Amino acid sequence: MTDYLFPPPEVKSIPVEGEAAKYPVNRIFCVGRNYAAHAAEMGMEVDSEAPFYFTKSTFAVLPSGETLPYPPGTENFHYEMELVVAIGEPVFRGSRDEAERAIYAYGCGLDMTRRDLQQEAREKERPWDLGKDVEGSAVLAPLTKAVDFGTPGKQRIHLELNGEVKQDAHLSDLIHSCVDVVMDLSTFYHLQPGDVILTGTPAGVGPVVAGDKLTGGIDGLAPIALTIGQPE
Ligand code: MN
Repeated sequence: MTDYLFPPPEVKSIPVEGEAAKYPVNRIFCVGRNYAAHAAEMGMEVDSEAPFYFTKSTFAVLPSGETLPYPPGTENFHYEMELVVAIGEPVFRGSRDEAERAIYAYGCGLDMTRRDLQQEAREKERPWDLGKDVEGSAVLAPLTKAVDFGTPGKQRIHLELNGEVKQDAHLSDLIHSCVDVVMDLSTFYHLQPGDVILTGTPAGVGPVVAGDKLTGGIDGLAPIALTIGQPE
């Protein structure tokens, strides 16, 4: 057995509906601008040719229902409600069938974002990491197996801030479908069980302050919740 200088980081995991065992999270990929109305509100054109990606470290994983202290380094912390795809089989340069088979489960997720730092990075043509790879910013609800959920399509995706609906769309509004995203991402990475993909957010993103309560849902999936706490 390897002797470590200090304990290795704990494995982050999320529950799966109907399973005693939890889903251990490996990598976190996120799709940018995958709903036309959100791309427009960000002042950007949609690239319908191919999706683009950014990543978060596993340290960003936060289970649904927790309180996230308002993070350091931002004055414009935003919510983004998203459909999460959880990979359950290795896939590399996958065919459409292989990509579909590789999708083990779906879930609700929040891609919490330091919008001021993301936009500054965009303007200065710098990486998005400080804006997007925020500790606790990948909020993940319990997963539902794909076989139980079915195919993403007419399901409603929505988010409420303190009970008021802020984001309201349908999964059929996704520009690049979940299978298309898995196929495309698998041309760059050896996707493997534990990899999750946040597939992009609909229009209506906005800022939070300490004390705010976010709730969200997608028809057929376990709902998500997050409370914003005082800054540390
Ligand atoms: Mn996002």
